[in-house]
Amino acid sequence: MNKPEYIVLHTAAHGTPSHNYDSTRAQIDAWHKARGWKGIGYHRVVRLNGEIERGRQDKEQGAHTRGLNSRSIGICFSGHGDYYPWTEKQKISGLWLINILMKRFSIPPQNVIGHREAGSIRGVPDPHKTCPGKLIDMDVVRDSVRRERRSDANRKLKLTINLVLDSETSAEYLEMDETEQVIEDLLLDELIKDHPGIAEVDIVKADIVKVEDKQ
Ligand SMILES: [Zn+2]
Repeated sequence: MNKPEYIVLHTAAHGTPSHNYDSTRAQIDAWHKARGWKGIGYHRVVRLNGEIERGRQDKEQGAHTRGLNSRSIGICFSGHGDYYPWTEKQKISGLWLINILMKRFSIPPQNVIGHREAGSIRGVPDPHKTCPGKLIDMDVVRDSVRRERRSDANRKLKLTINLVLDSETSAEYLEMDETEQVIEDLLLDELIKDHPGIAEVDIVKADIVKVEDKQ
């Protein structure tokens, strides 16, 4: 059982941009099975092109961060955060995923952490751990999710999500092509809050399709 209070970000830390870099859910699943685990330890994988792959179910305990596995959602970004920053598409999809999960589980921005910060929460800081990568500044990430999106209000976004419900309805598939502000109002404030039965928020991809001229 998992009761998410934190969102913990990770890097796959695998490959180089020219070789084996875009780690997949299937690859990570195989690595973790080789460790004797029951399968992928993360709840989501954010690929280089912004597509989000599903790992464990949100209510299922993860296997990614010592001490926080029964109270966090683990998100792994493909690539290697010590050497290369997230791609622009990873950033857009990743931040939307984090935003939606924060709303879904009422997680405050300060509880969006990098794996390397988890030791401090347990009272045993680990200065050698770099995950989700030396090039991922968690203060910038927290600022980004905290920030009101007014400055990006005219940015058009294509957002694809699956809302997985508890009831007979298994999933509601949505594809929205609107400005970020409209999507934020509709999706986060109305849809999620008005559907307490939602068991999973399975965002598939977020992509900026157009930046409109500001008036
Ligand atoms: Zn990690």
